[in-house]
Formats: sequence, C-alpha cells, structure tokens
Amino acid sequence: MTFQNSLEFAQFLDAEDALSKYRQEFHYPQVNGKDVIYFTGNSLGLQPKRTQKFVDDVMKDWRELAVEGHFYAEKPWWDYHERLANGLGKVVGAKTQEISVMNTLTVNLHLLMVSFYRPNQKRFKIICEEKAFPSDQYMLQSQVRFHRFDPKEAIVEVKKREGEHSWLVEDILNKIEEVGDELALVLLGGVNYYNGQVFDMKSITQAGKSVGAFVGWDLAHAAGNVELKLHEWNVDFAAWCSYKYMNSGPGNASGIFVNEKHLNRKDIPRFEGWWGTKKETRFLMQPEFDPIETADAWQLSNPPILSIAPYLASLELFDEVGMDALIEKQQKIVSYLEFVLKEIDKEVESSFEIITPKERGCQLSVFLHGEGKTLFDYLMKNGVITDWREPNVIRLAPAPFYSSFVDMYNFGQVLKQGILQK
Ligand SMILES: *Cc1c(COP(=O)(O)O)cnc(C)c1O
Repeated sequence: MTFQNSLEFAQFLDAEDALSKYRQEFHYPQVNGKDVIYFTGNSLGLQPKRTQKFVDDVMKDWRELAVEGHFYAEKPWWDYHERLANGLGKVVGAKTQEISVMNTLTVNLHLLMVSFYRPNQKRFKIICEEKAFPSDQYMLQSQVRFHRFDPKEAIVEVKKREGEHSWLVEDILNKIEEVGDELALVLLGGVNYYNGQVFDMKSITQAGKSVGAFVGWDLAHAAGNVELKLHEWNVDFAAWCSYKYMNSGPGNASGIFVNEKHLNRKDIPRFEGWWGTKKETRFLMQPEFDPIETADAWQLSNPPILSIAPYLASLELFDEVGMDALIEKQQKIVSYLEFVLKEIDKEVESSFEIITPKERGCQLSVFLHGEGKTLFDYLMKNGVITDWREPNVIRLAPAPFYSSFVDMYNFGQVLKQGILQK
C-alpha cells in the first residue's frame, strides 16, 4: 500500500482498521482539553476502562466477605492467579502449566536465576547484550557476586559493531559458540528497550542450548508486543512485567514462564514458600514442601489480589483480540509512523535517523540530529507523550490497542511545527 501524509488518508486507514473500536476501551490523559497522542505504552500502558470493575469487585468481596473471600468470593482469592495463566500462555506461546504470575520483574528474574544459574568452576559465564536495561545489569552482577565469581570475568556482553545502532544476530551466535562450554546462561532482553530491536529468540535459544547452557529471556518489552513461542523455541525460562504493553497498571505483577521439561525436577533448586505447595494439602500446614506440578511451584507468597485484578482485566482484552490481530495492526501503524516521519523530515530538512532495525515491534527509536530537548518539551506541551533518552533519542511506541492512524498524522504535524518554530 502506498501511504499518504494527509488527514484524509489517515482517517481512511482508521476506518479500515478492525481494532479501531478498542480505542474506546481505554482512558486517555488530557492535554489542552484533548486526548493525548500516547507513545509511551512501552513504559506504562493506558488504563483499560474495564479495569475499575475488576478492582471494585475485589474491594466489595473484601468489604462483605473479609477472610471468607479467599474461598467464597465470586473469583476466590486462593486460586485467583490461576485465571491468568491460560490467557498469558496465548500471549507468550506457552502451555498453561508453564505460566505463573507473581512478584515483580527483577524479583522474578532473580528467583529464576536461583534455579537456572548454577555456576561451577568450569561453566560460569553469562551472555547478555551490552547496555542491557540497568536493572538487568545489576541483577546479573549481583547474582555473579553472590556465587563468588567476578562480574568482569563472568559476564560476557555482546557489543554492537562500531558505528552500528543494532546488534547482528550472527555476533550473538558466534559469541555463544566462542564461550562454549564455559557458558552457563544466556539471558537477554527479547526486545531491546533502547533501540526497539527484536532479537531472533528462536535461533539464539537454539544456539545456547546446543552448547549446554540455560537460556532465559527478559520479555519486559516483548510480552504483548511481538510474536512469542516460548515453548516451541525450547526456552528454559522467561519473565516480563505487565505494566508496559500489557496495560495492567504501575508496578504491577510480573509473569513467569518455566519450560514444562523443568517442572517437577528434583535437581533444579528453587527458593520456596507456601504458595508453591499443592493446593490440596497447603492448609494442612505440613513441614515438607510438596510442589505444585506447574510453574506456580516458583510462587512464594499468596498473591496481591488487588494488583493482579487489573492484569486479569487487561488479559480479557488480549484474549478477545488475539496477538495475531495486534501484530498485524502494529506492523501497519509503525510503518505509517515511519512514513510520516520521513515525510516531515523532507519538509523541514531536518535529519531524523530511525535507529530501530527492521526487526521491530511497536517501537521506533529516533535520533533527532540537531534537535535538542526543547523539541521534546514542545511535543509534551502539545499533547504528544513520548520519552527522551540521552543524548537525543525519542522513543515512539504506538500501541495497536489504542493508537490510531490519525494520531500518527497529527503527531507529524505537531513535530513539524515544533521544528519550524525554533
Ligand atoms: C521495564 C524493564 C524492567 C523493570 O523492572 P521492574 O523490576 O519491573 O522494575 C526490567 N528490565 C527491562 C529490560 C525492562 O524493560
């Protein structure tokens, strides 16, 4: 399809879009009395309107039933989290029993590393991408030190080539091969938070497995964004947060995946708590840990129901629409955004550089050569919510659930004015 940078054309694309009605399902912040153009669904997704009811229901059950809500609420709390596993399994390509929802992302990665990072003198190295999200770097370093190894020696970062904005898959595969039988773990972000690159998770997982390492993925920017087939790809474990593309609210609970083949293995250790024991015997308060035969065995505490209620509300929407339809719209809307950016670039003779490679999901990261923070401030003041990363990159992530093609067109116009009014 040949795109046009005009309001009529953007309206035509919206009229054709089967998901356009989902815009009504979300709350928009207002700037200057208008809905904002929201590009930060990769940081905190908008609030689905139906979330309120899910939270109210829990409040009501608590008010009216108190402790009895654990068993007699309409959605009893003791197994509330199980309602999320099936829907999440569809989002990440996993079997229901491979999924659990608990804690928050960095906590879960630590807990999963307890199980899947078991270094010895020969095999102790971890491969990750250079400049991974800071929390991931701190997590890896502290895990390595916890096992009395030196992060400088144990952590092998795959770098981008000189002058490149993205990683070459072959460089990652070669590094895995090179580290070989010293490699204990491959742990990368499935989608890089900075440049929006989607890694070839299938090939990288295969390569890691073939040298005898465990392979895990941080899916913070991938879950609810790109196609995932964790089970089929033979991934060992993964975790993600729910507040980015999954629209479950600030700091909300994280999801984990543990490959079926690792469930019920006695040789894989784990930090344990009472919510990981079998439901049937949990309340007998026995001294021996009797693990649930699913990824819930990694659960320690009884889950925060008020926090996972919004996640369940959001998953209902994912279930209704399905990842295939979301990805189809995503590709179109991101292509349109790219087109609009290039058109504006020509009109104002600026020089934007899109540093996101063609392996991408919702996000375009754009280098604004010659443009400063004032442009970013102008965008924010005029209702375009985006984010700024030093030195001068803005990240634009239209979310297929609630971003429209007209938003992309309008964004282009605001951007143009922002550059021209300097
Ligand atoms: C957003 C993000 C996090 C955030 O971690 P929390 O534990 O949820 O605060 C971690 N890693 C990556 C790659 C992220 O994108």
